[in-house]
Amino acid sequence: MTNTAYISLGSNMGNRSENLQKAIHLLKGQDEIEVKRLSSIYETDPVGFEDQAAFLNMVVQIETSLSPQQLLEVILQTEQTLGRIRVFRWGPRIIDLDILLYNHENIETEQLIVPHPRMHERLFVLIPLLEIDEMLVHPAIGKGFKQILGEIPEDKGVRRWKQINGEDEFVHIES
Ligand code: ATP
Ligand code: MG
Ligand code: MG
Repeated sequence: MTNTAYISLGSNMGNRSENLQKAIHLLKGQDEIEVKRLSSIYETDPVGFEDQAAFLNMVVQIETSLSPQQLLEVILQTEQTLGRIRVFRWGPRIIDLDILLYNHENIETEQLIVPHPRMHERLFVLIPLLEIDEMLVHPAIGKGFKQILGEIPEDKGVRRWKQINGEDEFVHIES
């Protein structure tokens, strides 16, 4: 498990916290993935397409022996297993799993761009990410994520929904 990656999770359909929990459970079930840290869960007003229900968002830190491409396949498969149907871009979804960071690498293939190309402008990504590690640096921009967050003028629309900490993190999101 030599690689460290960060994955963002989001849901705005059905039982949102259960969807997050199921996705984490499926990641934990993979031999090649160890889930290390979870952020709190945040409730987020939708951005992009605003006429839809609020999201729950969080970030997880994993260690993995999977390559970035293999990790993408696992998260897309996990979305399928949980019943995600893509209706239109940025529309409502049962679950969205995105690879934010993979080590300190910059990756650009047809299927995968890492760091995630929109992560640095999304409060609902930056806030939970920094909760896990406030020293992280954006591998392409070369600035700390803390500084990047500080430079975003708007700070509305993201509320802590459930705090998660310590070893029994999984119990907390189950209730
Ligand atoms: P956004 O990327 O703006 O968050 P989205 O998550 O709703 O939008 P999806 O429909 O989930 O977009 O993803 C579409 C495609 O994006 C995936 O099939 C995948 O090939 C590609 N993709 C590129 N980079 C990444 C990444 N870092 N993480 C996840 N998917 C990615
Ligand atoms: Mg996304
Ligand atoms: Mg996605």
